Amino acid sequence: MLGERYEKVMERLDRAVQAAGRKREEITLIAVSKLHPAEMVAEVAALGQVDFGENYVQEALEKRETLDNMLPLERSAALRWHMIGHVQSRKAAQVAGHFDLVHTLDSERLAQALEKRCAQAGVQQRVLIEVNVGEESQKSGVDRKNLSALADYVQASCPHLELQGLMCIPPVFDAGEAARPYFALLRTLAEKLRSEAGLSLPHLSMGMSGDFEWAVMEGATFVRVGTDIFGPRPPKKTA
Ligand SMILES: *Cc1c(COP(=O)(O)O)cnc(C)c1O
Repeated sequence: MLGERYEKVMERLDRAVQAAGRKREEITLIAVSKLHPAEMVAEVAALGQVDFGENYVQEALEKRETLDNMLPLERSAALRWHMIGHVQSRKAAQVAGHFDLVHTLDSERLAQALEKRCAQAGVQQRVLIEVNVGEESQKSGVDRKNLSALADYVQASCPHLELQGLMCIPPVFDAGEAARPYFALLRTLAEKLRSEAGLSLPHLSMGMSGDFEWAVMEGATFVRVGTDIFGPRPPKKTA
């Protein structure tokens, strides 16, 4: 089951890359394993998958510990972990330096908290800024109008954070092409920031199970696919 689903996603990605006239190596597939057990991560890792995405700090750290105990160390150490869920500033210490890439920087407050913890630990942390592309009041992500201020803040005041690009979750889910204008918007915002602030910002994290083909068309360098690899998610346990 997992193997078949994974193969299908890889085929879709290959076709999307071709249709977009891009190179496969420009795009990293992140397998989003939130709420799924370590055993399933190990299964997908055995198929050759390297990048995994998690939404909840505690769950992610526990799962990785389980994997460290389950797999030969060189195999678990070869996996790359992405924090793709909202991070509260008070959890900064658990995040700083523990993820290959944090996709969801969305406030100066969080930047400041991560910077402080990274400085204490003596580590660099790669980050993306999450943009609230749909301007939804209940969504996390920085508003478009505050994006350049946050990018400037990171550049000027956070020497331990390496700003690598932008991330978004469009307001439409599993709606295929309907999400495309939001992907285009994120690309445009990154281009603007590159030219205005002189940043390189190589990465765009966008596209999920129902719409990643369209994200690839608009320049995604990370696509985040959960359901179409792992199947439906079990409900989140509330503590
Ligand atoms: C859960 C999640 C995904 C994966 O969504 P699917 O629709 O299951 O592919 C991708 N990105 C983020 C930020 C998520 O929270």
